[in-house]
Amino acid sequence: MTSTQQMGAREAESHAGKLPESGRFGPLVAGLASLDRPERGFPVRGLEALRQSGLWSAGLTATDGGPDLDGPALLRLMRLVGRASLPLGRLFEGHVNALALISAYGAPAQRARVAAEAGAGRLFGVWNTEGPDGVRLIQGGLRLEGAKTFASGGRHVTRPLLPVDGEGGRQLVLLRADAPESRVREVSGSWQPMGMEGTESVKLDFSGSRLAPDDLIGGAGDYYRQPMFSAGALRFCAVQLGGADRLLTEVRGYLRRLGRHGDEVQALRFAGCWTGLHGAWLALAEGERLERGVLYSGGDEGRLLAQVDAVRLMTEDACLALLEASERAVGARGLLEPEPFGRLIRDLRMYLRQPAPDAARLRLGHWLLGRPPESDWEADDREAEHVREG
Ligand SMILES: Cc1cc2nc3c(=O)[nH]c(=O)nc-3n(C[C@H](O)[C@H](O)[C@H](O)COP(=O)(O)OP(=O)(O)OC[C@H]3O[C@@H](n4cnc5c(N)ncnc54)[C@H](O)[C@@H]3O)c2cc1C
Repeated sequence: MTSTQQMGAREAESHAGKLPESGRFGPLVAGLASLDRPERGFPVRGLEALRQSGLWSAGLTATDGGPDLDGPALLRLMRLVGRASLPLGRLFEGHVNALALISAYGAPAQRARVAAEAGAGRLFGVWNTEGPDGVRLIQGGLRLEGAKTFASGGRHVTRPLLPVDGEGGRQLVLLRADAPESRVREVSGSWQPMGMEGTESVKLDFSGSRLAPDDLIGGAGDYYRQPMFSAGALRFCAVQLGGADRLLTEVRGYLRRLGRHGDEVQALRFAGCWTGLHGAWLALAEGERLERGVLYSGGDEGRLLAQVDAVRLMTEDACLALLEASERAVGARGLLEPEPFGRLIRDLRMYLRQPAPDAARLRLGHWLLGRPPESDWEADDREAEHVREG
């Protein structure tokens, strides 16, 4: 082979190397594009497009039967789904989170069962949020008592993963919600939100549900193990940034239709929005690299957790700035139906409300001010080297 031929072969190889991913996301992109507007109500068609895409088991490791996606590809997938629809993105994010937790902490037989169930198209979710009447394990740890709030997917989720209080601490329970041993009652009137209606994130009472020992995943306290517990936030931030992409695209189209996209006020407004959103995405990609460093080559966990908090703040701030700019740009006329802005704005505002946002900001500030007395440059350089070597 001549050197030119070798170069040609290398180019073809590297081009082909890019194809599998675009090919892999291709059917999903096509399936989601056919839903020209986000669905009203529970996103049945969007979920079906995900099932048909070959990506439904994303979250399970490849050894457990998940698609062979690396960390960056998984985050791009979350963003892509969020672009199509935030309610769909929320449901898929919960599904992926459940599968990832089961892959990490489940016993081999449990992981095999879950792989088969996910392969058959079952919808999973993680329902952690609860009020004072939260779920507890009673009667030797094989019966449930109590309720969960914000249970995304409600009765559509037949395999919810419930972190519940047991004798030894917080225990993961994978409930067979459609089995006769389970008692799942919806608390009526518990889901009347300002946006994200389609997620059907209702309050559910599980009192009286009976469990088999095989329904307990991992040991007490596993759910809170780091870095998995905090770094999962990167996935919901990716979905939120996808929702922001969609809003920005729609606003741009609207301004163009009105012949206002060249207006200087609008240009000034959105330049600032884009820097915020793009910065959040870059920080998120950096977070994923740091997570890999911690998982596979002993990177600094404290640095990673600070990055995750930073990504949460940057995403929230950038999305709020975009929401404000979009409302100002499209005005009252744009906020009327059938324009999509009212709904997109309500959904993003609602989904941005994630647990203890001020605590994350505070933690980041304390971490920053409490760093060892060396320059931030040095610490970051060392960490970057570490990740590269890993
Ligand atoms: C659409 C949607 C779907 C969801 N789906 C799920 C799901 O499937 N599973 C699930 O587990 N959860 C789900 N959630 C819940 C979500 O993960 C968050 O737990 C919830 O949105 C946080 O509620 P909050 O905004 O009231 O947060 P909070 O954490 O209560 O924050 C609200 C305010 O209270 C302040 N605050 C919080 N704690 C303290 C404190 N100790 N002292 C002083 N101030 C405090 C915060 O700083 C903030 O100002 C969902 C939420 C939404 C919006």
